[in-house]
Amino acid sequence: MASITLNHLVKKYGDGFPAVNDISIDIADGEFIILVGPSGCGKSTLLRMIVGLEDITDGDLLIDGERVNDKAPRDRNLAMVFQNYALYPHLTVFENIAFPLRLAKGKHSEDQVKKLVTEAAATLELTDHLQRKPANLSGGQRQRVAMGRAIVRQADAFLFDEPLSNLDAKLRGQMRSEISQMQRRLGVTSVYVTHDQTEAMTLGDRVAVLKKGELQQIASPRELYEQPVNLFVAGFIGSPSMNFLPATIDGTTLKTALGDLEIPQDRARKAAGKKVVLVGVRPEFFEDAKLVEDHKRANGSTFTATLTHTEWLGNEQYGYINFDPAPEMRELLNSLARDMDADELRPQVVVTLDAASRIRGGREAEIWLDTRKLHLFDAETGDNLTRDAEAGAELTREAAEERAEEIATAQEAEGRGNGTGFGSGSGNGASGGTRTGDAGAAHEDGATTTGRATGGTTTGGATATSGKHAAG
Ligand code: ATP
Repeated sequence: MASITLNHLVKKYGDGFPAVNDISIDIADGEFIILVGPSGCGKSTLLRMIVGLEDITDGDLLIDGERVNDKAPRDRNLAMVFQNYALYPHLTVFENIAFPLRLAKGKHSEDQVKKLVTEAAATLELTDHLQRKPANLSGGQRQRVAMGRAIVRQADAFLFDEPLSNLDAKLRGQMRSEISQMQRRLGVTSVYVTHDQTEAMTLGDRVAVLKKGELQQIASPRELYEQPVNLFVAGFIGSPSMNFLPATIDGTTLKTALGDLEIPQDRARKAAGKKVVLVGVRPEFFEDAKLVEDHKRANGSTFTATLTHTEWLGNEQYGYINFDPAPEMRELLNSLARDMDADELRPQVVVTLDAASRIRGGREAEIWLDTRKLHLFDAETGDNLTRDAEAGAELTREAAEERAEEIATAQEAEGRGNGTGFGSGSGNGASGGTRTGDAGAAHEDGATTTGRATGGTTTGGATATSGKHAAG
């Protein structure tokens, strides 16, 4: 295991294009970091710079404090897991897992190979499949074989490049939880690239949101969700997405296309001096006014709207309200859409209603909005004017503590106790401290990596419609 430090990293391709622009991130030993962002934001480039498949134009990359900019991939001892698993069809599961050990010719005795592969297979619940060929395995099993290969290498960190994007939705969910549990058990430093915000939110200790090669925010999923730094992060994280309503502000009154909304004074004060703001409202901040308890009602504002339609999902329902923004506001929404890699930003608000609500499309209804929670964004810079940085930092601190406890519990359950490093076996004794340092599975596998699947579509009130941040 190792810490990884990205110090003002820059990557310029031949044409001078800065695919990665001055990114600094400290990745702690054992941490699970997600790099997320729309297509072309530079996340794969950044991962490839870490593993050594891409030269670093500027800045420093440190592994456990040692500068490795000029080290070859094989000398960085990092293991890359790709989306297409890069398994060898003619080899058994055993031989696929053993592959990096065999590559390091003569470094491991046959007994050692057997021990390492058997232990990895036990951790991955592949013991019964060791003699089978990849073609006969399910997608999830193949994924585990690919991870087994990374495990036997006893790499200092796992690097994942969209490993789940060509699985169907159900398997993706399953594999997501497998990867998450395995990462806890192994406690191995991991960096995971995805454009799927659901994967980002469910897997990461911290999530780094990138846009056009620049780091927007790095924080725990909850901090990103509750205290985003700007419009881009607010719109990218969450499904259905945050609604953005253009508004003019007059004292504590927001004048929006849905009607006037009274907001708390402390929120209004933060937008002092601004004439136009974008109001960010998550769907769950709304409710059918009839179902809001009296003591809660004063925490929000009620308005009348006609929903176009509702979707009943069993545990809740979504309602849709169209609005007609002024032309200059429409342009604002469109430029936001372009930033988020969406075709357009529909002037539509998505509201989450209780499953018991009787509100239906086509008729006027009273909707309540919890105005304590909404955010106000600067219409020109996109900055979140109402962000509470201290509250956000506290959320990330809490997440780190919870995570440390989870890792300790998972490792205890494995019978390994705290602090036992990755690659030391799966509860049945440690395997010697040898490192394979082989020709770099990363390089090897990298050569066989092919295209990339795209996600599904997202519905979003006044938010992205291109589907680049689809739910898993
Ligand atoms: P995706 O999810 O679509 O793979 P990404 O966020 O991983 O996107 P990168 O593949 O890292 O993005 O690409 C970042 C930027 O660098 C893009 O604008 C891309 O066009 C550019 N780029 C990537 N590889 C090269 C290359 N070999 N030569 C020139 N430009 C490149």
